[in-house]
This record gives sequence, structure tokens and C-alpha cells, in this order.
Amino acid sequence: MILTVTMNPSIDISYPLAHLAIDTTNRPKTTTKTAGGKGLNVTRVIHLLKHPVVATGIVGGNFGRFIEEQLDADGIAHHFTHIDQETRNSIAILHDGGQQTEVLEAGPTINAAEQADFIAAFDQLLVGCDLVTMSGSLPQGLTPDFYATLIAHAANAGKKVLLDSSGASLQAALQADVKPWLIKPNETELAGLLGEPVDKTDLVRLQKQLTHPVLAAVEWIVVSLGKDGAFVRHQEQFYHVTIPTIQVVNPVGSGDATLAGLAMALAAHQDDTAVLKTAMTTGMLNTMQARTGWVDAAQFDPYFSQVHVATVKRGSAYVND
Ligand code: ATP
Repeated sequence: MILTVTMNPSIDISYPLAHLAIDTTNRPKTTTKTAGGKGLNVTRVIHLLKHPVVATGIVGGNFGRFIEEQLDADGIAHHFTHIDQETRNSIAILHDGGQQTEVLEAGPTINAAEQADFIAAFDQLLVGCDLVTMSGSLPQGLTPDFYATLIAHAANAGKKVLLDSSGASLQAALQADVKPWLIKPNETELAGLLGEPVDKTDLVRLQKQLTHPVLAAVEWIVVSLGKDGAFVRHQEQFYHVTIPTIQVVNPVGSGDATLAGLAMALAAHQDDTAVLKTAMTTGMLNTMQARTGWVDAAQFDPYFSQVHVATVKRGSAYVND
């Protein structure tokens, strides 16, 4: 079973409008409301691909109940810590031929007692899981080293963590004694982490960057590159992963779907090539759906067979087929 952590879930509300009018009333004809937050996207993709998964995190109020009801309706197991404050809403207004204007609430502020309740529940859930994913930003009230704390608890239970976050919480996790097992930055997040530009075509420089002291102790670094696939370091080995050109409907959540694929394949102890092919396939399948964090399991095999994983000779730009 994979345990997914979503500390600041949201109800993702989508308002499609032909035109967004400012300083007056807009009336969308249809509205969708889904259980959201990056970790719940990861959860849904794992569930759609029929791998056992349990979602955890913190929810509160009526909106928190809505999230749990949606997970129940989808048949997804969950165990959230409950707080009195309301879970947040995230509003995406889709308008004027492809524009997206977002209104993202900060969400609740977690106090020390709620934090302790969550950690106690997390320790219990660790017992029955194979590995853990942690995704997204932290709610107010939790310090940036909160993921680092959870990773240390997971390590005490002998469980590995795949971390998909950015900014201060990612930096803190990388500075801690116990590192995440895997991180999945995209190009922008990697550049932010290293404080220098990243050029996805410069494979020699990318290798140096993935062995930078900040990252050296992390076993798996999967740099996802959108339509260009991924560049990866697993321990001492580098991989260049390429994918076919596909018809993209909605790329939002592809990184979450990629993390889902990584978690599933690693939990099943697959070899590196299969792990990376699975991750790229789940990312691609998400881009082909209108819904965020959604994949069509029936399309897995045909796309899996089109992903190409090549090893890269250390210190060179040469890619071995
Ligand atoms: P997001 O923040 O939207 O969740 P991300 O920036 O973390 O995404 P990306 O690198 O954009 O992650 O995408 C993750 C994976 O999804 C890619 O490695 C690839 O497999 C797939 N993917 C994303 N965009 C495309 C695309 N345009 N065409 C084909 N595959 C794509």
C-alpha cells in the first residue's frame, strides 16, 4: 500500500466562462468541484491504475467532509486528521479562449496540538505502508522543516519517501540528516533549488547539477521535462528518457501523475527502466484527459511501449541506446 500525504488539500472549483468580465457579475453555466491538492491527484492516479493507496493529511469543516465524501465515492481509502477550521477552496476560472485565472485560498492555520495529532496518526499509518509520497505546499502554522520531520519518522519505521515540493520545505528536507529517497523537480524547480539556470539540452551540465552537494545524498532525482520526457540520476547512473509526441488536452497535474507512476513502480520493486517508463506513461496519460489527476488505465500499455530510456555515460553527452 502507498501512503500519500496532502497537508493542505482543497476543493478545486472550475468556472468555465466564455469571457471574464471585471467589476461586474459572471455566471458560469457549469461548475465542477473536485477533491484537489497535488497529493490527492497522486492518490487518484494510483487508484485508477489499481494499486492500493491510502490518502492522509489534514481536513476540516464542511469542505473537509466534502473531500472525504468524494474520496469515498471514488472508492479511495483515506485517514485524515480533522481540525475545526475549514479546508480551503481553489478556484480556476477558465476563460477567453484558453486563459486561466486562479484564486487560491491559503487555507487553515495548523496549531501545535493538531500537528501532534497528525504526526501520531501518520506514525500509525506508516506501519502498514510500503512507501510514502508527500506533495505540495504546507499549510500555515507548519514550519518549513515539517516534511523533514515526517521523513525522519518514516525512516524510523523503515519506510522511504518520495517528495514533490518546492521552495523552503524542499530546501529544508534536503538539508536534514535523513533525505527523501526521491525528488521530482521540474526544470524551474531545479533551477530554483540550485540558484542557477538549467538547460535541458546540456546533458553534461545536467549531470554536474544533479551531483551538486545540495542533491548528492538523494538517491533518485527525476527532473521532469514536460514534452521532452525526463533526465534522471539514480545513485551513480544517469538516464535520458524520451517520450512520443502526443495530443495534449490538459497538462495540469502531469507532475503529480508522474509521481504516482514512480511510487507504483518503486513499490513493486521494478527495475530502473520500468520505473521510468511507468512514470512517463502516467504523466502522458494525465495530459490526455480534461480532468486533472486522471488517467485512462486502458491506454497504459500502448504508451508504455513508446517510452525510451537510455543510459548516459558519466561525464559525457553521449546517450547509449
Ligand atoms: P505540473 O506542475 O503541471 O503537475 P510538472 O511541471 O511537475 O507538471 P512536467 O515536467 O510538465 O511536470 O510533466 C511531467 C511528465 O508528464 C513529463 O515528464 C511527461 O511524461 C508528461 N508530460 C507533461 N507535459 C507533456 C506534453 N506536453 N507532452 C507529453 N507528455 C507530457
